[in-house]
Amino acid sequence: MQCEMCGNETELFRAVIEGTELRVCKNCAGFGKVLQKIRVPAKEKKKKQEELSEEEPEVIQVIVPDYAKKVKQARESLGLKQEELAKKLNEKESIIHKVETGHYKPNLMLAQKLEHFLKIKLVEEYTAEKTEKKESTSSEGLTIGDLIKLK
Ligand SMILES: [Zn+2]
Repeated sequence: MQCEMCGNETELFRAVIEGTELRVCKNCAGFGKVLQKIRVPAKEKKKKQEELSEEEPEVIQVIVPDYAKKVKQARESLGLKQEELAKKLNEKESIIHKVETGHYKPNLMLAQKLEHFLKIKLVEEYTAEKTEKKESTSSEGLTIGDLIKLK
């Protein structure tokens, strides 16, 4: 903190000098009446630590463990061959075969294509609990109210 009289960066005191309350260094405080010593608030440091520990909201997408069975059953219920399904999805038949036998875990893109086409659920999303908290306490950006005030 800086002394409001001489600008020295040092321990400050709250003092009344010539009728005005100022935050001044020990030297300048001598010009007036010292009210109290100003303590550097410990809050600031704590706040920074909180911000650091706050992680980005994380959505974890996981392919369900029984994806092979689900794909196979859904395909068969549509009366499609692996080859036909592959064509519809613009994928290789061998990929579909591997997926259905559990030898190939589909990546998210393929899984989502399969989900849409077969109307099954292959991807499960887990959202870290912190997300909501972060959104509600976020100070990023301005609210609409702030924007109106600025105009
Ligand atoms: Zn000073």
